[in-house]
Amino acid sequence: MRGESRTFARPFVPSALPADVVEAPHVVVIGDIHEVVGARLDADPLALRRDAARRGLTAVDLRYPYAGSLSDVEMGFVYEAVGAIDADLREVFGAGHGRLIDRYASDGTRSRWLPRIADGALIGVAVTEPAGGSDLDALRLRARHVEGGWLLDGVKGPMARLTEAAAFVVFAVTDAGLSVFLVEADAAGVTRQVTAIAGLGGWSFGELIFDGVFVEDAALLGRPGEGRAIFSAHFADWRAFMALVAVGAGEAALAQARRWARERDIAKKPLAQLPAVVERFGDRKLALDLARLAAQAALAAPVTERPDLAAQAKVAATEAGHAAIELAISVFGARGLMPSVGLDKRERDVRALQIADGPNDVLRAHLGRAYLRGAS
Ligand SMILES: Cc1cc2nc3c(=O)[nH]c(=O)nc-3n(C[C@H](O)[C@H](O)[C@H](O)COP(=O)(O)OP(=O)(O)OC[C@H]3O[C@@H](n4cnc5c(N)ncnc54)[C@H](O)[C@@H]3O)c2cc1C
Repeated sequence: MRGESRTFARPFVPSALPADVVEAPHVVVIGDIHEVVGARLDADPLALRRDAARRGLTAVDLRYPYAGSLSDVEMGFVYEAVGAIDADLREVFGAGHGRLIDRYASDGTRSRWLPRIADGALIGVAVTEPAGGSDLDALRLRARHVEGGWLLDGVKGPMARLTEAAAFVVFAVTDAGLSVFLVEADAAGVTRQVTAIAGLGGWSFGELIFDGVFVEDAALLGRPGEGRAIFSAHFADWRAFMALVAVGAGEAALAQARRWARERDIAKKPLAQLPAVVERFGDRKLALDLARLAAQAALAAPVTERPDLAAQAKVAATEAGHAAIELAISVFGARGLMPSVGLDKRERDVRALQIADGPNDVLRAHLGRAYLRGAS
């Protein structure tokens, strides 16, 4: 399987966009990516995901029983390539948060859910709560053990994938500490409160309410009390992937601005020759390249070293991506704010990535604390 995936790897340039809008020749990704998303930029991400599933592309990072055809670093290329098109398409390929089922579920749950993920089912993750977003210690959604299973009560959100997910991986407080459960989206007692969001609005967003939701014992992922370790391992990979989505978005915006700056004359000279503009392009490109390296280094590192590396990469990449998009907007002048140019959406999406999956300020504070605790 691993060998096979390499035979259909190829350079990726989505056919529906001008080549220098999404110019990522260093990006080599799986098979038919551009056939799935390249020509259908306005399609709904879940429909594209089903399309990807028909080509076997939602199971590429599953280990069991699919033998994981793409490594984490290779999946990183996929996320970057998709981010260059539209950050809202970030989960068209791969298992997404379904990786939690692959890594931590019982055999029975795996054999029921992994084929569904391979068929395109989307898995949501529910950590955040109204009273405790950034702070795992503040979580209150409770799971109480009862005969044959668990009863969940509480509220999750604001969070994404409310109406699209087939199941949610839910972090809940138990007597043993933070624990993780798989809850089917249509389980009795689960309701939703959908709200609008200005960035990353490709998935629905809002609150998920659990009112006496029963799940069987087999729905537990890992062991009771392992929630923090599971969170840390999963979000290390996820943050590095989202870092690469931001790098892809920033690279695409920068390439779009480069094209414009070469064509646009200011005082009879191309904008691209103004020293202040040249320097800003150099600065933004440098930051994007370093952020990409940081994210790839995190994905290549042993799993024990990934959490801090991924936190660094996520901060660096979402800020580098955002700065590149801001430069692109200013290079385009008033046109940079026209929705038809696409930069305003990219800007909002990457801004949302600075908050989702651990706000940058929180990650910065964590990294600072770790450094200050370190040996002198
Ligand atoms: C587009 C999007 C999708 C999301 N999807 C999901 C999802 O699918 N599942 C899910 O569970 N959650 C999801 N979230 C929620 C996200 O994880 C939370 O918004 C995030 O963890 C912050 O929580 P909060 O919004 O409650 O902010 P708060 O915890 O109230 O924090 C607000 C701000 O305070 C500052 N701050 C807080 N703590 C610290 C600290 N220790 N040090 C320094 N500064 C600090 C930061 O600037 C932070 O941004 C999503 C968010 C967005 C924007």
